[in-house]
Amino acid sequence: MSNIEQTLSIIKPDAVERNLANEIKEMFKNNGFSILKEKKIQIEKSEAENFYKVHETKPFYNDLCAYLSSGPIVVMVLEKDNAVFGNRELMGATNPNDAEEGTIRKKYGISIDKNSVHGSDSVENAKKEIDFFFKD
Ligand code: UDP
Ligand code: MG
Repeated sequence: MSNIEQTLSIIKPDAVERNLANEIKEMFKNNGFSILKEKKIQIEKSEAENFYKVHETKPFYNDLCAYLSSGPIVVMVLEKDNAVFGNRELMGATNPNDAEEGTIRKKYGISIDKNSVHGSDSVENAKKEIDFFFKD
């Protein structure tokens, strides 16, 4: 049975800055994802705070929001069968040092904070995150 899902992906400032957006998009396409929507933007810190609200009690919250708003990002809606889990697999572990060979974070991530990509962690959060960036 097919289970087509959509998920939100963000290419974070460290990767956009190193001109890796096209290579990362190729990795998505080569792994069967369709990029349904895409935009390159820079967000305000207050928007990053809203986006990462689930992490507001974490010690890294302030730095994380400052970082996500520090430069251009590429925000995309990805679609494929089981897209949410498939994207988490392709991204690899949050800390690039722990990420499996062949994952985006292993290949391009610099550190736990500059880990090149964001991906929704559930179908429910994917819907909220897609709405957050593409509600118009
Ligand atoms: N993060 C961080 N320090 C930590 C944990 C997370 O800077 O100790 C950052 C990292 O950029 C991560 C983001 O916060 O991607 C969100 O954390 P989460 O646990 O949701 O990881 P993800 O879902 O991105 O793998
Ligand atoms: Mg997360």
